Amino acid sequence: MHTASALQDVDRRHVWHPFTQQLGWCEEEPPLVIDRGNGTNLYDVDGNAYIDGVSSLWCNVHGHRHPAIDSAIRAQLDRVAHSTMLGLTHEPAVELARKLLAVAPRGLARVFYSESGATAVEIALKMAFQFWAQRGEPGRSRFICLENAYHGDTLGAVSVGAIELFHSMYRPLLFDSLRARAGDADHLESLLERHGAQTAAVIIEPLVQGAAGMLLQPDGYVRQVRELCDAYDVLLISDEVATGFGRTGRMFACDQEGVTPDLMCVGKGLTGGYLPLAATLTTERVYDAFLGEFDEFKTFFHGHTYTGNPLACAAGIASLELFQREHTLEALQPKLELLSRLLAQRIAVLPGVAEVRQRGFMVGIELIEQPVADRIGHRVALAARRRGAIIRPLGDVIVLMPPLAISEADLRRLVAITATSIAEATSGRFHGALGACAAA
Ligand SMILES: *Cc1c(COP(=O)(O)O)cnc(C)c1O
Repeated sequence: MHTASALQDVDRRHVWHPFTQQLGWCEEEPPLVIDRGNGTNLYDVDGNAYIDGVSSLWCNVHGHRHPAIDSAIRAQLDRVAHSTMLGLTHEPAVELARKLLAVAPRGLARVFYSESGATAVEIALKMAFQFWAQRGEPGRSRFICLENAYHGDTLGAVSVGAIELFHSMYRPLLFDSLRARAGDADHLESLLERHGAQTAAVIIEPLVQGAAGMLLQPDGYVRQVRELCDAYDVLLISDEVATGFGRTGRMFACDQEGVTPDLMCVGKGLTGGYLPLAATLTTERVYDAFLGEFDEFKTFFHGHTYTGNPLACAAGIASLELFQREHTLEALQPKLELLSRLLAQRIAVLPGVAEVRQRGFMVGIELIEQPVADRIGHRVALAARRRGAIIRPLGDVIVLMPPLAISEADLRRLVAITATSIAEATSGRFHGALGACAAA
């Protein structure tokens, strides 16, 4: 067993972390070394417990080490850990597809597996493009995305992304897409009027734009987008990688407005947050455009080595079964109300807080603007860590995204820790240890 400092030392020398300015980050506050999880807690190698306040980056649903998911993976491990979906199939992939379609918006009929949200989006984009080409409309090759969109970090997904900080560097490598103002159906309509005939698909994060800082769309917007796509005969891609599996209070965000997209991307919560697995769901209409004689080359030439990995699919099946067996969505409803109340009472009233945005179990707490170098969001997260909660900000927006399974007591504690941490980091910034830390 290695000590935390030995692991941190090797990490500092050899590991490159995602979305992380490596210069200085280990010195400022060494990374926690997570040893294990249990329920909605994570434990570091020194045995300290932390509430997993962001569901291990928005994916954990039923908690860590849930006995049902653990044993499903173990049982599958005793059969086979991996076998390809190219030319072969296996029970976990078949069974998960069936279960997924049973809870997905009505009309979705086909499941194409991959292993991350970004790949699920790449697949949706390529399917939409190829769909039109094979229907004899190759001119429909453009995509409309929303301002501040985030769909993952591979180049196709970045091409329909619109967060300057993350995406502008790669502009020369990207294809051009059109940007609609999020939440503004009239603006989308004006784009479709001008460019509809060249557009393959509109891609949205329904209800909530997560990575943009939990930006909310007005009620009815997703439905309006669906209607506009129908009017201009454009496909709708709904990226439910963040919103799927109960996050907004229903199984999928599209369910809130009775919408069936033509393509739906799921990832993060698909396995309950256990293993890398994603899927792109689509309709029989889209699927049919890919059918043809072998020498017509209408095949969808796309596939990742670990596509539909059996261990991951077994976890996915177990997670969907838990939604039924533990009545996860029903049990969530009172917690959503409790969370709203707590946010209003404890967070919105803080002088350092500009706005609180909540949709279901997706929360963005926008702090009053501070100089970027102050890294106020980061300092709130560090303060929360010292009090026993893991949270991760998006710039100056503090994100709360607890596992759906969190207890009411832990939900209260998470909000209390967040409130105290915001108060500490926003009031004490000109003196004391935190001030010194910010200056470093
Ligand atoms: C996280 C996220 C993705 C990317 O998923 P990865 O598994 O990180 O590739 C795509 N879309 C949305 C809306 C996301 O929140």
